[in-house]
Amino acid sequence: MASAYDTTDVPAPRPVSGEVVIRMAGVQKWYDSFHVLKDIELEVHKGERIVICGPSGSGKSTLIRCINQLEKHQKGTITVNGVTIDAHHRHLDQVRRDVGMVFQQFNLFPHLTVVENCMLAPMRVRGTSKQEARDIAMKYLARVRIPEQADKYPGQLSGGQQQRVAIARSLCMNPKVMLFDEPTSALDPEMVKEVLDTMIGLAEDGMTMLCVTHEMGFAKSVADRVIFMDRGEIVEQATPAEFFTNPKSERTRNFLGQIL
Ligand code: ADP
Ligand code: MG
Repeated sequence: MASAYDTTDVPAPRPVSGEVVIRMAGVQKWYDSFHVLKDIELEVHKGERIVICGPSGSGKSTLIRCINQLEKHQKGTITVNGVTIDAHHRHLDQVRRDVGMVFQQFNLFPHLTVVENCMLAPMRVRGTSKQEARDIAMKYLARVRIPEQADKYPGQLSGGQQQRVAIARSLCMNPKVMLFDEPTSALDPEMVKEVLDTMIGLAEDGMTMLCVTHEMGFAKSVADRVIFMDRGEIVEQATPAEFFTNPKSERTRNFLGQIL
């Protein structure tokens, strides 16, 4: 019988480049007196695909939101594509331009059409012309395979389609890294696959990705490294083959026991 930790389908590790896209060094964060991130050390290399998992409330969202400074850390440094943010939080715009983010709740603008949602940031932030922004938007809507939805409003689309628009919208800014925060958690089950397939396509094209997800099938087949967080700490990080067959920590084993 296949065990919960069956890894026959885990691919061999891929070589990754030496270029560091994200480095978090000694990052600490508190919400008032609550210590939500405890001395986070993390390096993400160009082209690497990382899955972050862990119990609810362990700090996963806070960690990735600190990378694009939607949340601000109080100690340590975060370096994205060579630009370092310390506790003074300068250079935010530069960092945000390089980092795409996809949320659980899509966060599309309801009063703008799909293509307008995708055009907005390139026009506002990069000063791209309207025609060029439309061309870029249509290119990425084609890439997530919904170009025919361009002139609809988000409310007229399924959840899976809306999430693919959110991915296309991020890609229009030509990010160096993509962050995903439980991108399939709000979807009806039949729509999860189309979003995961879109993410797999991105991974295959070489995008550097950090994904908070509990889709362990995705982690096994796509991740180069799985990170387990608990109570504000990175408890364990390993290749999927190691992580699923031989988790080192008791906390990881408990977590896997609950979700697999
Ligand atoms: P996860 O994504 O792993 O579920 P979060 O990063 O969202 O965890 O939250 C980690 C902890 O920080 C939780 O206990 C949560 O209640 C708390 N928290 C999150 N956001 C805030 C906030 N804005 N103010 C105060 N506490 C927060
Ligand atoms: Mg979260």
